[in-house]
Amino acid sequence: FLPHLVASMEQVEETYIMVKPDGVQRGLVGEIISRFEKKGFKLKALKLFQCPKELAEEHYKDLKAKSFYPKLIDYITSGPVVSMAWEGVGVVASARKLIGSTDPLQAEPGTIRGDLAVQTGRNVIHGSDSPDNGKREVGLWFKEDEICQWTPAQAPWLRE
Ligand code: UDP
Ligand code: MG
Repeated sequence: FLPHLVASMEQVEETYIMVKPDGVQRGLVGEIISRFEKKGFKLKALKLFQCPKELAEEHYKDLKAKSFYPKLIDYITSGPVVSMAWEGVGVVASARKLIGSTDPLQAEPGTIRGDLAVQTGRNVIHGSDSPDNGKREVGLWFKEDEICQWTPAQAPWLRE
């Protein structure tokens, strides 16, 4: 066991974050991006994008049997979304915490949904729920050449 390898064994993850159409319509894009930026994660991809129905269906395929699924697909395709890929150690679970519970009325104050939304069907943001789904969703929403590999200048001030 080599203690100096522990840090390098920490898994760098990626997560797919999306400001949903209500967040874009309500002018919350800057506020939402800002929370991830200020936390210290790395932005790898970003676009304003009108989601086609087929992509919405693929993204939410696990929810196909749910009663709210047709309305969910209508919602996600109802206007442009802001698609993002964020990278970092522990970014998947941390982003879910920043986002808050699915039902904004149950979401803690201080979270994005807790501060900015009132209903599950208009909960302003999506975040991947596992590292595997993070990879899957980033691959689904972005082409290879839309993803930037770069080192932020602040990197040594965020992690020792
Ligand atoms: N949703 C809904 N009604 C529900 C549950 C979910 O409209 O009763 C929508 C909501 O937009 C939610 C999305 O479906 O964000 C995906 O549901 P999931 O359970 O994966 O919640 P999330 O991971 O977004 O918190
Ligand atoms: Mg989910």
